[in-house]
Amino acid sequence: MDAKFLDILVCPVCKGPLVYLKPQQELVCKGDRLAFPIRDDIPVMLEEEARELAPEEEIE
Ligand SMILES: [Zn+2]
Repeated sequence: MDAKFLDILVCPVCKGPLVYLKPQQELVCKGDRLAFPIRDDIPVMLEEEARELAPEEEIE
C-alpha cells in the first residue's frame, strides 16, 4: 500500500491518526483500539469491518 494513504486517512470513528501495520495489512487507531483491514491494497475504513485489538496487542 502506498504510504501516502496515511496522510489522508483518519479513523472514521474519532478522526484521529492511524498506524499502518504492514505485516498485518491493517490500519490501527490507537485511541479506539480498532484495526481496519486493507484488502487488495484498499483500506476498508468501516467501523463494522474493523477488528478490535486484543488487550495484549501493543501498537507502537
Ligand atoms: Zn479512532
